Parts: sequence; C-alpha cells; structure tokens
Amino acid sequence: MADIIYKYGKSVYANITNKCNCRCSFCIRFLKDGIGSADVLWHKENPSKEAVIEAIREFDFTGFDELVFCGYGEPTCALDILLSAAKVAKDEKKLKTRLNTNGLGNAENGRDIVGELSKVIDSVSISLNAPNSIEYEEITHPGFSNSFDRMIDFAKKCKEQVKEVKWSIVDVLSDDDIEECKQLSEETGIPLRIRHFA
Ligand code: SF4
Repeated sequence: MADIIYKYGKSVYANITNKCNCRCSFCIRFLKDGIGSADVLWHKENPSKEAVIEAIREFDFTGFDELVFCGYGEPTCALDILLSAAKVAKDEKKLKTRLNTNGLGNAENGRDIVGELSKVIDSVSISLNAPNSIEYEEITHPGFSNSFDRMIDFAKKCKEQVKEVKWSIVDVLSDDDIEECKQLSEETGIPLRIRHFA
C-alpha cells in the first residue's frame, strides 16, 4: 500500500493523489516508485479525504514544523482533500503548510482557488519548469490550452494572497533557460529557487 505521509530529507510530505494534469518529461514518478521514507507512492486507489486526515492525525510530527503537500501527483487535482487536510494540519497539529504545485489549479478546477488556498496554505512553491510557453508545452505536456499563461496568472494571484510564494526549477534546464527564468522571476516579483535534480 502506498504511503500517504512520508519523510524526505528534512521535511514531511503528504501524498494525497496520483492524479495529475501534466506529463512532465523529467517527472520522478516515471523513474522510481517511491522516494524518501516511502518505498511506494503509487496508490492502488487514490485515498479518501478521511484516510488522508486520519494519516495526518496519526503521524508523529515531533521534530518537524511543516507539512508539504507534494507526492506522486498534483495536489490541486484533489482540491477538497487538500483544503481539508491542510486545515487539520494547521488547526490540530499546529504545522505550517506548503503546497508544491504545477500552478494549474485554477485551470483544473475551473475557477480561481487561490482565496481558498490562502486560508490554509502558508507557502506555495510553483514549478516553473520552462521560461516560455513553447518549451513549457514540450516539457510538461499539460492537459489545458494556454497552460503557461494560466500558470503565470495563478502565481501572480498567489503572490497577492498567500504569505510566501516561490518559483521552483530544476537544474536540468540550460543556462540560457535558467537566465530567462531569473528574468521572469524579477518581472513577477516572485523569488526563484533552483533545485538540484535528484
Ligand atoms: S506536474 Fe509534477 S507530478 Fe505531474 S507529471 Fe509533472 S512533475 Fe510529475
């Protein structure tokens, strides 16, 4: 059975769904079945809201002050579970909450979800993946039209309403692309974090 809560490095993560609206060429879930303390992050069946909440309630968070919503899927594809689970993490476990997302949550849910997220999510990290729409489409194969622009719009809305917002890229991008991402980071006023691909 796949883990819902797992540890990786210095953080604790919630793997709430395997649903995703992209098919990124570098996605780690196509390389191995699990990471960190989880041997398997592929759910046989996506967990219910009750199962996710129970997993959070039962987990011993001693030594950790944050829960990161990030697993083998896009958390905003299970918005109801994400919002409810984040509320439990904050209210009952007194944790900070972070959402790692592909930034397509508004496109996925057909409405602006940022106001709802801002009530229970302290920090949002958005995978930029590429600095322009042509490369973005090639790398992420998104399930929506105009996904790059919609992802940028989501990030700008987050910047207005969420305490902390960051762009995230992995260092597999070319130097030119990384430079372009830095420019986009400056233009949007959203800091850029460059992660090592592992
Ligand atoms: S958005 Fe995330 S989970 Fe989905 S395919 Fe891309 S890297 Fe994988």
